[in-house]
Amino acid sequence: MTFASRHIGPDQDEQTHMLKNIGYASLDALMDAAIPEVIRWHGTLDLPEAASEEETIAELRAIASRNTVTTSMIGLGYYGTFTPAVIKRNVLENPAWYTAYTPYQPEISQGRLEALLNFQTMVTDLTGLTTANASMLDEGTAVAEAMTLARRASKSKSAVYVVDADTLPQTLSVLRTRAEPLGITLAIVDLDKGDQLPAEYFGLHLQYPGASGAVRDHAALIAAAHSAGALVTVAADLLALTLLRAPGEIGADIAAGTTQRFGVPLGFGGPHAGYLAVRAGLERSLPGRLVGVSKDADGAPAYRLALQTREQHIRREKATSNICTAQVLLAVMASMYAVYHGPAGLRAIAKRVHDHALTVAGSLTAAGIAVTSDAFFDTVTAVVPGRAAAIVEAAAAEGVDLRLVDADHVSVACDETTTAAHVATVLTAFGVPVSEPSECGAKPLGRTTDYLTHPVFHSHHSETSMLRYLRKLSDRDYALDRGMIPLGSCTMKLNATTEMEPVTWPEFANIHPYAPASRTAGYEHLVSSLEGWLAEITGYDAVSVQPNAGSQGELAGLLAIRGYHRSRGEEHRNVCLIPSSAHGTNAASAVMAGMKVVVVACDSMGNIDMADLSAKIAAHSSSLAAIMVTYPSTHGVYETSIADLCAAVHDAGGQVYVDGANLNALVGYARPGRFGADVSHLNLHKTFCIPHGGGGPGVGPVAVRAHLAEFLPGDPLRQGDHHAVSAAAHGSAGILPISWAYLRMMGPDGLVAATGAAVLAANYVASRLSGHYPVLYAGNNGLVAHECILDLRPITKATGVSVDDVAKRLIDYGFHAPTMSFPVAGTLMVEPTESEDLAELDRFCDAMIAIKGEIDQVAAGEWPAGDNPLANAPHTASAVTADVWEHPYPRSVAGFPPGVDRTAKYWPPVRRIDGAYGDRNLVCSCPDPSAFED
Ligand SMILES: *Cc1c(COP(=O)(O)O)cnc(C)c1O
Repeated sequence: MTFASRHIGPDQDEQTHMLKNIGYASLDALMDAAIPEVIRWHGTLDLPEAASEEETIAELRAIASRNTVTTSMIGLGYYGTFTPAVIKRNVLENPAWYTAYTPYQPEISQGRLEALLNFQTMVTDLTGLTTANASMLDEGTAVAEAMTLARRASKSKSAVYVVDADTLPQTLSVLRTRAEPLGITLAIVDLDKGDQLPAEYFGLHLQYPGASGAVRDHAALIAAAHSAGALVTVAADLLALTLLRAPGEIGADIAAGTTQRFGVPLGFGGPHAGYLAVRAGLERSLPGRLVGVSKDADGAPAYRLALQTREQHIRREKATSNICTAQVLLAVMASMYAVYHGPAGLRAIAKRVHDHALTVAGSLTAAGIAVTSDAFFDTVTAVVPGRAAAIVEAAAAEGVDLRLVDADHVSVACDETTTAAHVATVLTAFGVPVSEPSECGAKPLGRTTDYLTHPVFHSHHSETSMLRYLRKLSDRDYALDRGMIPLGSCTMKLNATTEMEPVTWPEFANIHPYAPASRTAGYEHLVSSLEGWLAEITGYDAVSVQPNAGSQGELAGLLAIRGYHRSRGEEHRNVCLIPSSAHGTNAASAVMAGMKVVVVACDSMGNIDMADLSAKIAAHSSSLAAIMVTYPSTHGVYETSIADLCAAVHDAGGQVYVDGANLNALVGYARPGRFGADVSHLNLHKTFCIPHGGGGPGVGPVAVRAHLAEFLPGDPLRQGDHHAVSAAAHGSAGILPISWAYLRMMGPDGLVAATGAAVLAANYVASRLSGHYPVLYAGNNGLVAHECILDLRPITKATGVSVDDVAKRLIDYGFHAPTMSFPVAGTLMVEPTESEDLAELDRFCDAMIAIKGEIDQVAAGEWPAGDNPLANAPHTASAVTADVWEHPYPRSVAGFPPGVDRTAKYWPPVRRIDGAYGDRNLVCSCPDPSAFED
C-alpha cells in the first residue's frame, strides 16, 4: 500500500459509495463541478514522485547526518538542556498530547489546561509577578507584545520605547519590525556607558541577564522609569531566576522571555514556548490565551480559557495582538520539567551552571584575560583583542561552539549539559589552564524568596509518579488519537507517525539556531527544498518558513506589501479591505502592519458583496494598500468572483493577500499565486500535517510573487537584513521535517487525491446532514469546498437548544465539537478532512442525526427545555452513576447514547463549565488542593 492510501481515510469503494450519495459518477466529475474554472489549474505539480515511509526516513536520515551536533555554548537565549526521557516519550512523542486541539472545548481539555495552569504558575512564581499567559511564540515576539502592552497601559503620550543595549540581538530585530509600522521609536540606551534616559518615553525594556551575560541591578532604573510614567519590561532567563531576584521584586511591570531551557530541544530555533507575565492590574490587558479556574455545573473546580473577549475573533481590528496558535505542547513540556525537578532540582541545576561559569571567569582572569562583567549567571564575555576568531575556531575544532561577538570579544555560555570537560576544552582554546572559580558571580542579587511551592511541584519526583501524572492528564483529554475532530478552518487531519519520528532525532533537535553554517547543511537543504515545494504548490515565486504561526505569516505578508508600496514612494497606501467573514487574525495583523481596516460586506449567499467591494475601492482608491481574503472563503465556498476581485484591487493599485489557511481545498487544483494573488500565508499545522499540539506549535510560511520577494523576513542576526518576524531565521525549524515528510510521501498524485477526498468528505457530510440541519452556504452546483456550515439558528429560535448544547452533547457521543459560532454566530462548521474513513464519517453523521432527534423531543415537549440530555450535557461518569437521578430521561440515554461503544467510552472529567463565573473571579494559577475536596 502507498502512504497516500493510508493517509487518506476512505478507500476506493468507500469513495464510490460517498460519490453515489451526493450524485456524482467520479471524483473528477465532482471536482469539475465544485471548483470554478476561473481558478482551476490543470497542470501537474512538479514535485518528486512519492517515496515510501521507509525511503523517506532514509532520506531524512541522510539529510540529518549533514547537520553536525556539537556542544553549543553560544547562548543568546538558546541553551543545551536535557529533556527528561519520561517527558520526551510521554509528551513530545505522545499523540494523546500532540494531536489535541486548542482547548476551546474545556470539558474535554482538562488535562492540558491543568498542565498550562502549572506553566502559568511556574512563570508567575519565578518572575515574581501575578499573572502569566500560556503561551507566547518565542522570546522576540513575547518582548514585542510586552512593548505594545506597555504602550496601551502607560499614561505617557510619548512614542519612545527605551531598549537596553545589552538586549539579545534577535529580540532587537523583532522589536524593530514591530515598532516601525506602529510609529514607535526605539531608543537604544547603553547603560554601562552611562547613556541618559530620554525625557519622555512610554516604556523601558531590560534584558536580565544581558546578552553579554552581565547581571545588573536595575532597581534604580526601574524606579526612574516609573516616575516618568513608563512601564518596565524585564526579559528574564527563568533558570537564572531560581538564583536571582525576580523581576517582580525589583519593580518590573512585565516579564517576558522563553522557557526553552526547561527541557525543550533547541531545534535550530524552535518551536519553544515564550512567556509573558504581568503585575496585578495589567491582567486584563495581557494578550494571548490565559487559562483560568472556574466551576462546572456541579460546582466542582474546572479549568477553561479565561477572558476570551480579548481574543482577535471578537475584537478583530480592535484586538491588541494577533496571536492565535501559540506553543502549547512546548509549554506543557517546560511546565513538566519544573514538575519533574521541583524547585530544589531547578536550583541545583542553576547552581551547577553558575559554578561552571565561575570557573570559566576565574580561570580567564587568573591568566590575565579580562571579562566584561563581574556579575553574571551563566555567560562570561572575554576581552581578547584581535584573537576572538582564532579562539572560536580553536574551540570549534574540539567540537564546542562559542559566540564570536566581534573581533575582540568571545562569549561562553554554560548550560545544564555543560561538564567540567567542556569547560577545560573552552579554556584550552583560550590558551588558559583551569584554575579557581571566580569570587564574583551575582551574589548581591541573590534571590531570597520561595517559588514553586504548590504541591504539584513536589509530588512527582519519582519516574513512576511522573509517568502516571502525565497519563492521568492525557486521559482527561480528547485528541485525534481517540476520534474525529471535525473543526472547520482548522484541518485536523492525520499526523502520521513517520512524519513525527525525525523531530526528536538529535541531528534535528540539538542544533543551535546560530550554529555556524558549516554545522547546518542538513537544515539548509531541508528548508530550501520545503520552501521550493511550497512555492510549486502555491504558484508563488518565493517562500519563507520563518513565521512561527499563521498570524505571524499574515503580519510578514502585510509587511511585505507595506515595504513594496513604500519602495515605490506610495507610503500613503494604508487601507486594508477585509471581508466581514474573515478570520479574526486578519484584521489584527493589518493593524499591527500599520494599516487601516475597512470591512467589506458579504451577501446573503455568504460571498463577498461585489457591489460593496466596488464602492469601498472607489472610496479608498488612492489609499488602497491591500485586500485580505480567505480562499476558499471561511464560509467553505469556492467563490467564483475571486478573479474579478483580484483585478479590481490591482486596477486600483492595491495588492491581493489570500489567506491560505484553507489550502487543503486547493492543493493540486488551484494555485493562489497564479489566480491573481500577490501573497499568502499557509498553515503547515493545518494542511501540511504538523499536529496542533493542543494549541501549538505551528508554522505559517509566507509565500509571495517575485515583486514582493525582497520584502520577505530576513535573518534577525544579519546586519542590514530586512525585518524579522521571529527570533530565529527559520522560525520553528525543528518541526519542518513533518511537512517535508508529508510532501515526500504523498508525491504529486497523492496530494491531488487528498484534496479530492477532503472535498468529497465535506460534501458527503453536508449531503447526509442537510435534511436535519440546514447547510448555510454552497457554491457552484450546490457544492461546498472542504468544509460546511450547519445553521442551528432556526433550531435555537424554535426550541431554545443552542449551538453550545449540541457541541457539549457531541462529547457524550464521543466526539469533539465542530468549530462553534465561527465565522457565523449560532452555527457549527464541520471540516472532516481526507483522513477520516467512511465508518468515522458515518459515526459522526449518525450522532448529529440522533442529536437532532433529541432536539425534536425537546421541541415536542417530551423533555423540559431546562432538563434534557442536551441542556445537561456533557454527562460525567460521576453524574450518570449518582445515587440520586431525577432527570426525565434515563441514565443510559445520558451516558450511552446510540453508537457509543460501551467498552471504550470517553468520559469527560467535568460537567459543563461556567465561563462567566471564572471571568468574574479570575484565578490563573494552581488552586490550593483543598479546592478539589468534596
Ligand atoms: C487558523 C487560521 C489563521 C491563523 O493561524 P494561526 O496559526 O492560528 O495563527 C488565519 N486564518 C485562517 C482562515 C485560519 O483558519
